[in-house]
Amino acid sequence: MIADLLIRNARPFGGPLEDLFIRDGRFVAADSVRAAVEIDAAGHVAMPGLVEAHTHLDKTLIGMDWFENRVGPTRNDRILADRDAKRELGINARRQSARQIMQTLAYGVLSIRSHVDVDTEIGIANIEGVLETREAMRDLVDVQIVAFPQSGMLPRAGTLELMDAALSAGADIVGGIDPASIERDPVRHLDAIFALADRHAKPIDIHLHEPGDLGAFCLDLIIERTRALSLQGRVMVSHAYCLGMLDASRQAGLIERLAAVRIAVMTVGSPSAPALPLRLMRASGLTVASGSDGIQGTWEPYGNGDMLERAKYLAQRNGMANDVDLEYAARVCTFGGADGIGLGGYGLSDGCFGDLVLVPARTLAEAVALTPHKRTVIRRGRVVVDGGELAGDLPVIE
Ligand SMILES: [Zn+2]
Repeated sequence: MIADLLIRNARPFGGPLEDLFIRDGRFVAADSVRAAVEIDAAGHVAMPGLVEAHTHLDKTLIGMDWFENRVGPTRNDRILADRDAKRELGINARRQSARQIMQTLAYGVLSIRSHVDVDTEIGIANIEGVLETREAMRDLVDVQIVAFPQSGMLPRAGTLELMDAALSAGADIVGGIDPASIERDPVRHLDAIFALADRHAKPIDIHLHEPGDLGAFCLDLIIERTRALSLQGRVMVSHAYCLGMLDASRQAGLIERLAAVRIAVMTVGSPSAPALPLRLMRASGLTVASGSDGIQGTWEPYGNGDMLERAKYLAQRNGMANDVDLEYAARVCTFGGADGIGLGGYGLSDGCFGDLVLVPARTLAEAVALTPHKRTVIRRGRVVVDGGELAGDLPVIE
């Protein structure tokens, strides 16, 4: 049983000073309460747990030997290198996913959606590995698992059946991948993954890197199927680079149609892809989430998984500098992510889960711009990170 926790002098989401009270793992009204444990937040910003809406926990190389990256420049080069590396380096999905979770917990990442590879070489072994980690770490972090056909689904016989097996084994979400450039058959790929989602009653998350008109065409197919199967609020499109490549009127029309069927868009603010029109997306009411994508892996050696830093990259990629825009970037990496991946009980209001991150900053804009690392992280009313250091009883990773 966890003792009641009183957090004095916090600034919930950058607002005025308030006391926050957590009882039985949830925020409750703080009026005239006494608690066994008290923390003085010293006027720092309190954010709800940071949301990592798109990563690849099974493939990070954190803690392993340095991977000498000789991978070619195309997406297919990367897919092949990635599949070879899984075999040659013996990447253990259970151990590696635990390492990434522990690393990002220190930043305050308390909810993670991870795409996990399913293919004809490894079968669903990576899904099983990440499921084990999720169970071992359930008191620290929420993990959603997307069954992800990284190597392609239609061109590789047997993958669709493995996707089905992954969903039966406990994967939460149906993944999809470039319906045209990788799958070579957009209608058949999308029909297949929407049918899986329908049969298993699970949401969908599609990696869509297709450019310009091709991407817009795929988005329209996704919108049609979302509406036909009444999956409003249960579909996310990851990357959607095409939204940054269309002329202004087509861009606006497509964003409006996405918002109308409540399809969420996840963007990492990649420096090597066209920037998505974040201001237009915000104005349309579209749900926008963000993620680190793969960190320290064979695709890219970069990244640490800090979602507050991600908010800064997003803002920079969109030429944002004023405080209101930085607050929006912070919102994308918290409430936007929570909405996009469908978290319940999320936020700092009474009744929500008692999860928060105290960031040593006086405003949200300052938190995003400076990304201070000495954060205190509270999960269900228990301090799990103190001044940037993991605290208390934590699982051992082997
Ligand atoms: Zn990805």
